[in-house]
Amino acid sequence: MCFRPSGGRLRLERIAMGPMVIGMDIGGTFIKAALVNRRGHILARLKRPTEASLGRIQIIDHIFSTVRSLETNPLSRGRVSAVGIGVAGIIDFRQGVVSVSPNFPGWKNFPIQKMLSQRIGPPIFIENDANAAALGEKWMGAAKDAQDFCFITLGTGVGGGLVLGGEIWHGADGMAGEVGHMTIDPNGPRCGCGNRGCLEVYASANALQRMVLEARAAGRTSRFFRNLKPSEINGESIHRAAQKGDQISREVIARVGSA
Ligand SMILES: [Zn+2]
Repeated sequence: MCFRPSGGRLRLERIAMGPMVIGMDIGGTFIKAALVNRRGHILARLKRPTEASLGRIQIIDHIFSTVRSLETNPLSRGRVSAVGIGVAGIIDFRQGVVSVSPNFPGWKNFPIQKMLSQRIGPPIFIENDANAAALGEKWMGAAKDAQDFCFITLGTGVGGGLVLGGEIWHGADGMAGEVGHMTIDPNGPRCGCGNRGCLEVYASANALQRMVLEARAAGRTSRFFRNLKPSEINGESIHRAAQKGDQISREVIARVGSA
């Protein structure tokens, strides 16, 4: 665990005043959490492996012990007023239920808020991770002065959050801002969500890899990828190849950009 900032004790005392919250991201690989004061200063961070394969009871234990560590941090002194948790997938934020999560196949209609409330004192809020990140940008980041904006995360997939009138627009099922699953081509490749041709299958790290593998399967050779395992063909290696003039890499990056 690290404490930030590392200034003098007096400064720490001052920024640690008032109520605090814990923000947490439950990823497929890591649980990342932070103790944050009302001004948005991060006072402490914690990161631990999720160990997603262990099953949901063990992950609930991990979440609980992470919250506990931050609650008992000398800077928080029991003043944590709420815990906000972001999870990828379809989240029923009103009920605090994970309907479906790509990172946790066993979490269908999982009442995570209720399970955690039995062990954690402060109120708990569950939100789609990209929606939570959009709210973060609204509070302290690039969208501070905007009332209406769209937030997009580009990574393994494409996440999105839509903020209208300063608040997350959830839509009927909490997924109104999921721009990654807008249809770009109804006849396109199958997406993880079950539909075809979503933005995510054209404009993500997975998309880059798939398009290079397709080119290789179609007999197009490139000295950059000839001897690589599929797992070694990723955003980084494709970017490097493109910089060295590889035609396939340049084409797939252009397709991502145009999508
Ligand atoms: Zn999709």
